Amino acid sequence: MFTDKNMENVQRSFQLAKSDIYALYEHVKVLRAEVDYLKQLNMKSSQPAAVEKQFVASETGKKVHQANCLHAQKIKKRVIFKTKTLALNKGYKLCSCLAY
Ligand SMILES: [Zn+2]
Repeated sequence: MFTDKNMENVQRSFQLAKSDIYALYEHVKVLRAEVDYLKQLNMKSSQPAAVEKQFVASETGKKVHQANCLHAQKIKKRVIFKTKTLALNKGYKLCSCLAY
């Protein structure tokens, strides 16, 4: 049997839980807005053109690749060039992914 005192405690903890949930809900809203914002940023920064225009070579290798080349993805110590010419000037040879 619930006494009045017990009922009061139960009600109080329900109210506390309720305000906790509201606080959480507000928090989730903020987080979701942040995620949306980050998604937008990400979409802007990862436009294909931006990535494909990079050229990737290995510090220890001799060839320069397109950023999306399979070989380029395996490179651990990356050197990134903005143009093919910069890489060629450094003595790198073009990988077949760039020979077109
Ligand atoms: Zn390649």
